[in-house]
Amino acid sequence: MSQETLGDDVHEVYAVLYGSHPRMRSENYVFGDPHDEMTPFSYYVWAIKGPHGTFVVDTGFDAAAAKERDRTLVHPVGDGLKALGIAPDKVENVIVTHMHWDHAGNHDLFPNARYHIQDAEMAYATGRCMCHQMLRIPFNESDVHAMVKKVFAFRCEFHDGAEELAPGISLHKIGGHSKGLQCVRVKTKRGIVVLASDCIHLYSHIDEGRVFPITYSIGDTLEGYKTIQKLASSRHHIVPGHDPDVVNIYPAAKPGLENWIVRLDEAPKV
Ligand SMILES: [Zn+2]
Ligand SMILES: [Zn+2]
Repeated sequence: MSQETLGDDVHEVYAVLYGSHPRMRSENYVFGDPHDEMTPFSYYVWAIKGPHGTFVVDTGFDAAAAKERDRTLVHPVGDGLKALGIAPDKVENVIVTHMHWDHAGNHDLFPNARYHIQDAEMAYATGRCMCHQMLRIPFNESDVHAMVKKVFAFRCEFHDGAEELAPGISLHKIGGHSKGLQCVRVKTKRGIVVLASDCIHLYSHIDEGRVFPITYSIGDTLEGYKTIQKLASSRHHIVPGHDPDVVNIYPAAKPGLENWIVRLDEAPKV
């Protein structure tokens, strides 16, 4: 799908920080990192507002899941969305970039939403790869069960590859980190923004060609960086999934939301 074929409507785009997990820098890279120091790691969901309604991208984790994995829930996901004027029970479309535990929790937060997911991700999360402990680590069984229930409740919409969800919003299967991982491309007043989610965890991954250790395919991850660079208007239109800098370089959505909710359709400070 080329830039020309993306619909003309422009959208507001927000990153909503909800969690954190400081860790050793070496934990973020295949082959580690020579700098033996602690570094912050942030958790986000994203929201897109425009003429076709509100689209929430990923559902984050809740307090119970945070406790199980020793993460800090900084702001519950629902609180962040409400601070933006979004009532979770009114949201009609949720895009699930992938089924990892930090992206697919809060099962009952969006009771009226349809969930958009790639065929390959659902097949991966319910298939033979989950018989391997190493590949199962980033999945919570309860998240997978909840999504299967949504399939049987006619609340899932499956996608395969690149598809336009609404004029100016498209989904693109990237794979790599998770087999059916997708990114979201959004037309905004400043150009085409790509919500990379875990296609790119941190700016250093794409800038230095490095890879996060949880990976189904390193080759697909690296090829994904190239695809995303083509999909976005520039490097400064790519939004990584876990970089703590996102809330520092983009302006707050409104006064009082600093370091919590930022506008991605405004230019970053670079
Ligand atoms: Zn992930
Ligand atoms: Zn993640």
